[in-house]
Amino acid sequence: MKRILISGYYGFRNTGDEAILSAMITSLTAEISNAEITVASACPRETEERYAVKAIPRSIRSIFRALKKTDLFISGGGGLLQDTTSMKSLMYYCALLLLARVRRVPIMIYGQGVGPIKRSLGRFLVKLAVSGCDLITVRDERSKRELEKIGVKRDIIVTADPAFLLKPARASKLSKLKRPIVGFALRAWPDIDFSHIAQTADEIAGNLGATVTFIPFHAERDYSVAEQITRKMKEKAVIIDNIDLPSEALGVVGELDVLVGMRLHSNIFAAIQGIPFVPIAYDPKVEELSASVGVLNPLQCKDVKNGEIVLRVRELLSLDKNLNYPVDSLRLRARLNVTLAKQLLNERRVLGIRFDALEMDEAAEIIERYIEEEKPRLIVTLNAEMMVMAKNDPAFRSILMKADLLIPDSVGIAWAGRVKARVPGIDLIDELARRAVDKGYRIFMIGSAEGVAKKAAAKLIERYPGLQIAGVQSGYFSWQDEKRIVDKIRDTKPDILLVGLGMGKQEKWIAKHLRYLGVPACLGVGGSFDVIAGEVKRAPVWVRQAGLEWLYRFIQQPTRFKRMLALPKFVFYVWRERFSTRS
Ligand code: UDP
Repeated sequence: MKRILISGYYGFRNTGDEAILSAMITSLTAEISNAEITVASACPRETEERYAVKAIPRSIRSIFRALKKTDLFISGGGGLLQDTTSMKSLMYYCALLLLARVRRVPIMIYGQGVGPIKRSLGRFLVKLAVSGCDLITVRDERSKRELEKIGVKRDIIVTADPAFLLKPARASKLSKLKRPIVGFALRAWPDIDFSHIAQTADEIAGNLGATVTFIPFHAERDYSVAEQITRKMKEKAVIIDNIDLPSEALGVVGELDVLVGMRLHSNIFAAIQGIPFVPIAYDPKVEELSASVGVLNPLQCKDVKNGEIVLRVRELLSLDKNLNYPVDSLRLRARLNVTLAKQLLNERRVLGIRFDALEMDEAAEIIERYIEEEKPRLIVTLNAEMMVMAKNDPAFRSILMKADLLIPDSVGIAWAGRVKARVPGIDLIDELARRAVDKGYRIFMIGSAEGVAKKAAAKLIERYPGLQIAGVQSGYFSWQDEKRIVDKIRDTKPDILLVGLGMGKQEKWIAKHLRYLGVPACLGVGGSFDVIAGEVKRAPVWVRQAGLEWLYRFIQQPTRFKRMLALPKFVFYVWRERFSTRS
């Protein structure tokens, strides 16, 4: 189970933000089958009912608590990081990013629109908070420039607004109205005078013979704007109310002949469906969107009073057809948000090595899939010592980079990769043995001193009656014997090969013989056979839970002292890497 927590301006009945949320939920759940999504919302009950997800209050306290059990924190769109509407909300969203960092949860800025940020405190906060994020995608070039300008030095990927992936609900809310229908999606804005809008709407209704409708995109607020305008109008106009879901709003826009849009998402909705639209660029984001779909001359607020809207509407009505705005590439880029989120959830990169952020069940399921596919695969149970070793051993490093699956075995790897729980190789053996009995998989064990693998195999059979051991082989053999041993494994055709020759040596050995052996799941397991056989005692559960298994092993085997030096080195390398990418 992967737990994703999404925060944004949700539960406020703002159609644009709800459209983003709805599209994000649909595409994330379609792409990540084991995702459990929680949304921080102003109205948790409503959010839960609308989208069938979990929802929590958006207070800092409740989000901080939820972050404890979160695998990925998404700061979702639209324009959260700006101080035009309020400085308080900018501080709130930055605080959440910083809290997620304190909780060591991977953070993604998801297709956001950034800016304008006018105050220097705002710029400082955004730089601080965004620089600590793991993945930053923004919905337009302008947002990227804004972040670069305030000093964010991370990679910033320009994708597209997540709402480009929204699917319309079959609404037919306008089916009874006389065509052509011209829709207005307006908001209150200081430079816009409602009398001018009323006059424009009258001309469209009177001179062009169109039905004028108002579509509120921010429920109560925009509804009251529409009421004030219709009161000033001489002609009749219709205010569309009870639009509940964003997909319904999308459906309504799809029924228009022409849209006059201030609200960004009203324009996006028109573009997606090829409805001719006249954008009013009250904010740079509308200008940016218009340019991205080839509308290069959006109206400015000042144009509202000079009759320009009527001219444009007349021109678009005379086309008498839908337009094909170039939205395919925007849809693809919106999808990239999802792909990148999935990658961040499932993979980590530490000291240049990519590994898989998996829990026990997920790791075992992938290994089962490998067995079904019958293609030989190298699986590494990754620990910090290996990472340090790979720094000085290019051959080993390249094996790690080419391995099919790298599982976070040690507490050091879990710490550096910020995964919630590690998957110790020795526990994975147990899990695989349990599944092997069910599925009839056969296991071959090679490694450890003479007789130990045999003893370990007997213990496993005792624990999992019915387990089929294809063969055992001690780990000390001469190179002359190697060919015979490899042939023996190949001939017994096991499904799983456990190789306990010690880290480094075992991965190199597997890589060398992988193709010839033809075993689907070849897994390096270090000294696990010694523990299973009872030759070496494993740390008690409380020591493991405290993350101190390495210390226990050291006390048991002080000769490991030199190897232990790799641990502080690893911590140092990881810190150095973080410092150099974040500063
Ligand atoms: N080993 C082996 N053949 C060798 C060298 C080592 O079978 O040529 C075995 C050794 O007996 C031990 C395991 O590899 O069972 C290494 O255990 P250790 O705990 O040192 O491995 P790690 O888990 O740290 O990789």
